[in-house]
Amino acid sequence: MELFNVYPLNDITPVRALGAQLWDDRGQQYLDFYGGHAVISIGHSHPHYVQRITEQVQKIGFYSNSVHIPIQRELARKLGAVSGYADYALFLCNSGAEANENALKLASFHTGKSHVIAFKGAFHGRTSGAVAATDNQKIVAPFNAGHQISFLPYDLAEVEHVLQGDKTCAVIIEPIQGVGGIIMPSDEFLQGLEQLCRQYGAVLIADEVQSGYGRSGKFFAHQHAGVRPGIISVAKGMGNGFPIGGILIAPEFQASYGLLGTTFGGNHLACAAALAVLEVIEQENLLTHAAEMGEYLRQELLANAGAQEVRGRGLMVGIKYDFPIKDLRDKLLTEYHIFVGNASDPGVLRLLPPLNIKREEVDQFLRALYAIIPAEVRS
Ligand code: PMP
Repeated sequence: MELFNVYPLNDITPVRALGAQLWDDRGQQYLDFYGGHAVISIGHSHPHYVQRITEQVQKIGFYSNSVHIPIQRELARKLGAVSGYADYALFLCNSGAEANENALKLASFHTGKSHVIAFKGAFHGRTSGAVAATDNQKIVAPFNAGHQISFLPYDLAEVEHVLQGDKTCAVIIEPIQGVGGIIMPSDEFLQGLEQLCRQYGAVLIADEVQSGYGRSGKFFAHQHAGVRPGIISVAKGMGNGFPIGGILIAPEFQASYGLLGTTFGGNHLACAAALAVLEVIEQENLLTHAAEMGEYLRQELLANAGAQEVRGRGLMVGIKYDFPIKDLRDKLLTEYHIFVGNASDPGVLRLLPPLNIKREEVDQFLRALYAIIPAEVRS
C-alpha cells in the first residue's frame, strides 16, 4: 500500500534529535526554530521526558478508561497548579482538533444553542466542528450543517451584534493566531469579549493549542490580558511530540456526564509524557526563559531584520515582510539548515522554537537571517 501523503515534503529524513537540534540520515545537523509546528516545548528527547516515558511503559502503557488511572489525576493536579487553573477540570483527548471539537460540543450542550462566533483567519483543526470554525481552509462542506458560524473581525460591536441574536453558544478565539500569521487581538479586545460572553451567556473558548504551554512567556497567552475563559483547549506542546490534547473546563460547565469520551485519551503513557513536560517547565523555569529569549529575539529583529512588522509574544514570533518569504524559508533550510514556519499570509515567517532554546541558537538563527536578507532591505 502507498502512503496517502497530504503534505509537501522537504527531502530530509531526521533520524535523531536533542534539544533544538536534529540530525538527518546523512549526518547533517539542523536547528529547529519551528518546534515541529509548536509541538516541541521542552526540546527534543529531553532526558527527563525520555526517562518518564520509559519507566511508565515498563509498568503499564495503556488500559481502557473503564478503570482507575491515577496518573490522569496527577496530571490534572499538576496542570492546575502550573497554569493557575486549579479550580477547572481536565478532560483528556488526543489532539488539538479533538480538544476544540469537545469544547464546542460542551458549549452547545450547556447553552442549548448552536451558533458559534469565530474570527477571520482562525485555525481550529480539521475535524468537522473544528474545521467549520476555521476560516483559512478551503473546505467546502463541513459535516455539521446544524451549526452556524460567523467569522468576525476583532471588533466588539460586531461581536455584540451577533450575540444579541441570542443563538450563540460559543465564541472561540486563538489568543494569538498561529497559522493565520501570528495575529494578536489586543488585551482590551479579549477583556471586552470575556465581558460580552458573560453578559449574553455564551461560552468563551480560548484555543491555546498553539499559543499555550508557555510559548507566549506565560502559561497561557490569554493570561497576558487577565481574562478567564470558560473552556481552554490544549494540545501540541502539552506532550512535546506525544499525541495528547485536552480541555480545561470551568466549574459551571462541568456537569455533562456521558457527553465526552475517548478510547485513547488520557492513557498512561500520554499522561507520563505530559507530566514530564510540566515538570521540566517548572524545574527549568521555562516560562521566564521563553519570555526573556522571546524579548531578545524580538528586539533584535525589530532593529535589524528589515521587516514591516515583528509580531507575537515570547517564543511565538511572526516576521512580516513586504515580499513572499518562500525563498527565504527555503534558503534557511537548504543553505543554513534551519527549520522555520510559514503562515497562511505568504509574507510571514513563523518562529516557534523550543521553550528552552539557547541564546547561541537564537544568534545562529539571526546570523543566517541577516546573511540572506540583503543589506539594503535591512537598513
Ligand atoms: N488549534 C490551533 C490554534 C492550531 O494551531 C492547530 C494545529 N495547527 C489546531 C487547533 C489543530 O491541532 P491538531 O493538528 O492537533 O488537531
